[in-house]
Amino acid sequence: MAEYRKPLPRAEDYPLTEPFWEATKRHELVIPRCKRCNLYFWYPRQECPNCYQRDQWEWTPVSGRAHLHTFTVVRQPQNPAFADDVPYAYAIVQLEEGVRMISNVVGCAIPDDLKVDMPLMATFDDVTPECTLVKFKPA
Ligand SMILES: [Zn+2]
Repeated sequence: MAEYRKPLPRAEDYPLTEPFWEATKRHELVIPRCKRCNLYFWYPRQECPNCYQRDQWEWTPVSGRAHLHTFTVVRQPQNPAFADDVPYAYAIVQLEEGVRMISNVVGCAIPDDLKVDMPLMATFDDVTPECTLVKFKPA
């Protein structure tokens, strides 16, 4: 495998997110869910953004079903490490559990196949032995 040269999330800098990255390695998507008010939320943080309970949430497996909330097509990446990927979809995806996350849409023609509200499914890209990224493909 060629060396992966793109910047990667550094879970060690954000220990709160380590269970998320461990799950993606198993090709599972987990999202924080408050044990008090049952809200799923994203991004991960110590406090529920609805009821403000601290440390009263758990990583909860979700289906991976989503839809494309909005997107832009990147043709001139700010970071030259992504130059070979253009054009690519920088997307905000809404999971069926309600949370929105930033990701990429893959597995289709960019930009022709991209449509707001199109159904998507999570897919897992093992970019290095230590890191698996969550992306989305047409469902
Ligand atoms: Zn809550």
